[in-house]
Amino acid sequence: MTGRILVVDDIEANVRLLQAKLEAEYYEVLTAGDGVSALATAAAETPDIVLLDVMMPGMDGFQVCRRLKEAAETRHIPVVLVTALDGRADRITGLEAGADDFLTKPIDDVLLFARVKSLTRMKLVIDELRQREASGRRIGVIAGAASRLGGAGGRVLVVDDQERQAQRIAAELAVEHRPVAESDPEKALLTARGPVDLVIVNVMARGFDGLRFAAQLRSEETTRHLPLLGVVDPDDRARLVKALDIGINDILTRPIDPQELSARVRSQVRAKRYTDFLRNNLDYSLELAVTDQLTGLHNRRYMTGQLGALVNRAVRGGDPVAALMIDIDHFKKINDNFGHDVGDVVLREFAVRLASNVRAIDLPCRHGGEEFVVIMPDTGLADAHHVAERIRRHVAGSPFRVPQTAEPLTVTISIGVAATTGPGDSAEGLLKRADEALYAAKAAGRNMVIASAA
Ligand code: GH3
Ligand code: MG
Ligand code: MG
Repeated sequence: MTGRILVVDDIEANVRLLQAKLEAEYYEVLTAGDGVSALATAAAETPDIVLLDVMMPGMDGFQVCRRLKEAAETRHIPVVLVTALDGRADRITGLEAGADDFLTKPIDDVLLFARVKSLTRMKLVIDELRQREASGRRIGVIAGAASRLGGAGGRVLVVDDQERQAQRIAAELAVEHRPVAESDPEKALLTARGPVDLVIVNVMARGFDGLRFAAQLRSEETTRHLPLLGVVDPDDRARLVKALDIGINDILTRPIDPQELSARVRSQVRAKRYTDFLRNNLDYSLELAVTDQLTGLHNRRYMTGQLGALVNRAVRGGDPVAALMIDIDHFKKINDNFGHDVGDVVLREFAVRLASNVRAIDLPCRHGGEEFVVIMPDTGLADAHHVAERIRRHVAGSPFRVPQTAEPLTVTISIGVAATTGPGDSAEGLLKRADEALYAAKAAGRNMVIASAA
């Protein structure tokens, strides 16, 4: 997995060094020597990550970071601030400026690639979700709301059998999160399957294999997306590298710096919130796109797509497809006599009766207003006519109970039936014939089923 990285540093030699390291790992590198050109490049090229030096003359790294996070088109790009070795004050300022991560100078290669890899992975997820979402109209609303998501209040599971360390981490985090410490990996796994935003695992645990635990979380469907922070000894290079291979998102080195702990936890929690938010909204807008909100039936758009595929198969020699075009008789009178709300109740009750009178593979849809369509795969004209008659009787036979009216309402429907006729037929042709048959049923007196002669 590679990515495009913008390296910003006022010292040419620093830029060249980082560029060489990153390019050796097949990252594509863009460079900038000052804040102003960094902002211009970020906006024009939208890199996957910005590695940003803090100490620069003119506009410093904090200012650049703040500007990147303010602009809608660059706000989602992760920013890694490169600070001096003892840059505790810098980290606080950096967090306030919206930085996603930190590296200290001189830059440790393993940690550099750990951070870059983890952020590229996160960025990939976000990009994909953003892209899928971009096809919807809601992108503006979602981007706006997501940018306000904080990194506080996270449910953090600390998995560590070194009690004192675990308690220290939990106490530190309790200031702004909801930490739970667990020393038994089996119990921790159960907890991780529940509502958790982040898992911190001590890779150096004595009583269990922390790496195995991490790998287990990664392999399970329910815990796969959970961000993982690994606690590692900085001298244990082998384990550090392995932890990152397994897919640990970020590393905390011992002794744990409270400032760093807080920054990394917050950034992981914020990223989790962001991807959760996008994912939930995606599911919601997908659902909206195929469902009629009043009745819960499929909508016309969904029906049209499905029907196209079924008819294509039918005209190429596959099983026939039938369509019922259904319209409620004198529906306008129900609205006029009892009000629009009663009309809505009738539509909903009708939808229930319709859906319970067709097979599971049939597609009952609201075509619009008080008009409905049922698409019936593998069904010929005679069978479809039979089903239509059953639906008609089921509606006319027992009046609709409506809370707002004293007496139940008698409702009737008219139905036009059509089926595919073989080569040369089309979805439009099929619906048109069903519609003509429906019109004939209305003309013949309503509460009636008529099958298309064609
Ligand atoms: P016909 O027997 O010829 O079908 O007569 P009709 O009155 O059922 O048909 P018409 O097309 O004249 O009127 C349909 C009415 O359905 C008009 C419209 O206001 C109403 N309508 C459409 N959508 C909704 C809805 O979502 N809720 C309610 N309550 N009424 C709706
Ligand atoms: Mg009608
Ligand atoms: Mg109508």
